[in-house]
Amino acid sequence: MNSIATLGSHCALQILKGAKDEGFKTVLVTKKSREVFYRRFKFIDEYITVEDFKEIQDESVQTKLSDLNSVLIPHGTLISEVGIEAIENNLNVPIYGNRKILRWEADRDLKQKLMEESGVRTPKIFNSPEEIDCLTISKLSGARGGSGYFLSQNKDEYSENIKKFTELGVMHDDDTVQIQEYIVGVPVYFQYFYSVMRKEIELLGIDKRYETNVDSIGRIPSDVQSEIKLSPTYIVVGNSPLVLRESLLPEVYEIGDNFVKASEKLVPPGMPGPFCMEGVYDSNGKFVAFEFSARIVAGTNIFVNGSPYSYLIHGENINMGQRIAREIKEAQEQNKLDDITT
Ligand code: AMP
Repeated sequence: MNSIATLGSHCALQILKGAKDEGFKTVLVTKKSREVFYRRFKFIDEYITVEDFKEIQDESVQTKLSDLNSVLIPHGTLISEVGIEAIENNLNVPIYGNRKILRWEADRDLKQKLMEESGVRTPKIFNSPEEIDCLTISKLSGARGGSGYFLSQNKDEYSENIKKFTELGVMHDDDTVQIQEYIVGVPVYFQYFYSVMRKEIELLGIDKRYETNVDSIGRIPSDVQSEIKLSPTYIVVGNSPLVLRESLLPEVYEIGDNFVKASEKLVPPGMPGPFCMEGVYDSNGKFVAFEFSARIVAGTNIFVNGSPYSYLIHGENINMGQRIAREIKEAQEQNKLDDITT
């Protein structure tokens, strides 16, 4: 591979800075509207300008990427704007990691299956509103960035919410909803990297998300909260770094190792590269996972200059983008690029 390419959004700056630091040529597929912004960063060598990210499927863009001998690094925007079908079928460029596992991230049933196979604790799932017997959070199918989620404690509250969201046009007849037990506690996001070349997992960072409006509700006195009948929303607006009690770290590594094993079994070749386990430490201090991301997450942007955990492993301030580039470099040197791309 001569170059590393990604879409201009999400964590593109981190990915390309890391690639440059590891000696790769860097390629950005950018929307025209953002080109001026991205040209401010001198570590980007080549620009492929599009009106819409979907154009990455076009032959002209594919040819440019092939001519540049690029490997494409997937991130959240590739999934949300280009789509799983296109990633699976229409992109001829090599994609870093396992492109098939992205579907397991996007589909709630497949996601649940993989998490259960890994043995990580997960919230109870309710198959119908009639079964609701505790505080629950209901989520629409597909990635909606935490908007349109709602809380209910019984089937009547659930039905009221469905009615409200349907009237608001947030929910449509063909939407499926997953009803999960709501876990009260501290939300935590583990940023892992699985190195195929070194056959080991690395915890490179931990973050906490800042979500609107749920993280601000506590700033309003409770009598005002009940008066204005606020519904919580979970739209991520930013991320803050977090360090865990050291005694919790062995379990974090076990969770990562087990997830890699489960994905190798259910979605070969497994989970090469970055992924994130997302959950809550409950009232008993136990970690319960409600989600995973099977690719680099934007929360890694906090650690562009390294995290306490990446420093402990590597003795240098390496970020997730650079770690990806280093893995590609090692694979290339050992003629094993096929082991880490699909
Ligand atoms: P998700 O889209 O599944 O990542 O969820 C968005 C946000 O909703 C999370 O970051 C949490 O703040 C919250 N959340 C999701 N699932 C649960 C759950 N089972 N218990 C508590 N909070 C949750």
